[in-house]
Amino acid sequence: MQKVVEIIKQRQRGQLLSEEAIALWQDWKWQVKHSIREISQVEEIFDVKLDAYQSNDIEKTIKSFPMAITPYYLSLVDPVDFKNDPVFKQAFPDKRELDIAKYDMADPLAEDKDSPVEGVTHRYPDRVLLHISNTCAMYCRHCTRKRKVGDVDSIPSKEQMLKGIEYIKKTPEIRDVLLSGGDPFLLSDEYLDWILGEISTIPHVELVRIGTRTPVVLPYRITDSLIEVLKKYDSLWLNTHFNHPREITEASKGVLKKLVGAGIPLGNQSVLLADINDSTDIMKQLVHKLVQNKVRPYYLYQCDLSEGLEHFRTPIGVGIEIMESLRGHTSGFAVPTYVVDAPGGGGKIPVGPNYMLSWSANKVILRNFEGVITTYHEPDAYKQTSNKLIQDATGIKPIGIQGLLSDFDDSITLTPSGISRREKE
Ligand SMILES: *Cc1c(COP(=O)(O)O)cnc(C)c1O
Ligand code: SF4
Repeated sequence: MQKVVEIIKQRQRGQLLSEEAIALWQDWKWQVKHSIREISQVEEIFDVKLDAYQSNDIEKTIKSFPMAITPYYLSLVDPVDFKNDPVFKQAFPDKRELDIAKYDMADPLAEDKDSPVEGVTHRYPDRVLLHISNTCAMYCRHCTRKRKVGDVDSIPSKEQMLKGIEYIKKTPEIRDVLLSGGDPFLLSDEYLDWILGEISTIPHVELVRIGTRTPVVLPYRITDSLIEVLKKYDSLWLNTHFNHPREITEASKGVLKKLVGAGIPLGNQSVLLADINDSTDIMKQLVHKLVQNKVRPYYLYQCDLSEGLEHFRTPIGVGIEIMESLRGHTSGFAVPTYVVDAPGGGGKIPVGPNYMLSWSANKVILRNFEGVITTYHEPDAYKQTSNKLIQDATGIKPIGIQGLLSDFDDSITLTPSGISRREKE
């Protein structure tokens, strides 16, 4: 049997593979089993030799955050200039991952704090995140959850899964369940079918979403039998994670087409990464290629404050400039929402350019993407429809800013706790 390194080298050279090698290559289990985990394999593939210091640094990094790169994903790297390759940089460890910056946090999104039972993050009123897998096909170097992903101690057991499902069952306000991980598609078809089956029997759950990076790093995972499982569930949405236009290959296009063919709406979440996709041109190419393949760009994330990610982070202004380059300049549905996931846990906060310049009693001054400034006259007579009747009937109290705006009760302030002048009252 051919060695994985040889097959990758043949693909790099554009040589035809034997039938046997093609069969192995397209077998997702073979890909996972033969993931690149050794520095020596990377050296062989790119014909380099790291010096003792470099390989020592990388070994140390791998001890903290394991390396696993699918042969498929590694084969997308440009062998000539691999060090500057955006695919390589998402996959290959960097000793800077061991640097902990001043504001870094182990759990920046406080997912553990908002966890009513293990494996469930319940942060928003009507939806929960269920961590159903702890492994991934490839360990992204920029992963927010890298402290957990790949850690054998936190692999969710079936009992834990049942507890999570139980929590969803007894919490009627949950109408949307996000299956996440790790990567849910690293689980077997049967197990996924079981979880989807369990959740779909809960009457108040209206939709289920799966977040997976397999279309990017392991497209062969989307087999016909997996598609058959997914097809069984109405109201299933899928979000994937393309960060760079180079990741959209013929193989990934093929699986996107299959998923769309199965009637599954597709979204994409990208992370803004320094020196990888932090440019208006790259982002525009990415969103164009996505919509061409019927994938709606959903979120562009500001890189989180997880430990060891500082070298991936950009200023927020870089993201704002990207949003400025998209809105108006291209199809509206090709424009994702740029979000900062609130450090300390507060959920996603959308940020973007300001389009409202000023207000008066009945005028709003706006600017468009070209810088044209315009005036919107508000109606002289407008009587707002009250939501009060509906709110009284359902008894659901509007929270936060929506609560201040509504007539539900008399509250006029949101006050942080711990303000000393308030405590004296
Ligand atoms: C992102 C996220 C969701 C889903 O948010 P949407 O804006 O609805 O996509 C739900 N729960 C948690 C904890 C999340 O991080
Ligand atoms: S696929 Fe997602 S969860 Fe897995 S390592 Fe990459 S970013 Fe993290």
